[in-house]
Amino acid sequence: MSPTDPVDASLVLSARGLTKSFGSNTVLRGIDLDVRRGQVVALIGPSGSGKTTVLRSLNGLEVPDGGTVAFGASAGSPGGKDLELDFGGAVGKRDIAALRDRSAMVFQHYNLFPHMTVLKNVTEGPVQVQKRPKAEAQADALRLLSRVGLAEKRDAYPFQLSGGQQQRVGIVRALALKPQLLLFDEPTSALDPELVGEVLSVIKELAEEGWTMVIVTHELGFARHVADEVVFMDGGVVVERGPAAEVLGAPQQERTKQFVKRIQHEV
Ligand code: ADP
Ligand code: MG
Repeated sequence: MSPTDPVDASLVLSARGLTKSFGSNTVLRGIDLDVRRGQVVALIGPSGSGKTTVLRSLNGLEVPDGGTVAFGASAGSPGGKDLELDFGGAVGKRDIAALRDRSAMVFQHYNLFPHMTVLKNVTEGPVQVQKRPKAEAQADALRLLSRVGLAEKRDAYPFQLSGGQQQRVGIVRALALKPQLLLFDEPTSALDPELVGEVLSVIKELAEEGWTMVIVTHELGFARHVADEVVFMDGGVVVERGPAAEVLGAPQQERTKQFVKRIQHEV
């Protein structure tokens, strides 16, 4: 850290220089991402720009080739990190588990366990992975399910639910892990248009409650409304970042301008 870098005591996540290739395809070319406590960051960019790979890297579903990730109540200060991984060095199973303990992912296609009831889907991580008492995990799960209007679906299987209901279960499953950071990967893009609103309104409520989150989305209106900061990626780099109103309302970079214009014409 140079003397010009102020210590930022409110960072939950601080990622630096993340790189990742799949074979000869270089997907991330040095991604920096800071997220402050209670902040909502919208990650936008064209298909194939590396957005999903960034989220998956923060959740230990992909292991970057290089770069660092720090988590903590104050990840920007030397004593405030409770996890620091350097992907340039050896990263083991325990490191990946520690990463997964701090972030939780909501997937584009919900990724619920098809053979498990709603309640089991939600309690599986807390009980099996986090080793929390089953009764406590179930009570938490039911409280969270009621919050999104799905308590009466506790014994249903995913195939018996609408896409919007499945995604609300996906969100509850992430919340049940009590993560420091929620990661949403295009949470509404697989939904029929009439079901998008119910999921966006849950995410908006979580933002208002102060959850810290990174949301990959093409819903630019939603991003403008809910996100504090927008990060625009293209070709594995961050092209532009800043307050949502600035990046979406008055983008500076040509690539950002083109992208925002194109998306707005699609809707
Ligand atoms: P985005 O979410 O912005 O659409 P992704 O992160 O999904 O972008 O993908 C970026 C690039 O990485 C794409 O070219 C994609 O084909 C490639 N990619 C992603 N995951 C894998 C993987 N597991 N194996 C090989 N290539 C991958
Ligand atoms: Mg993606």
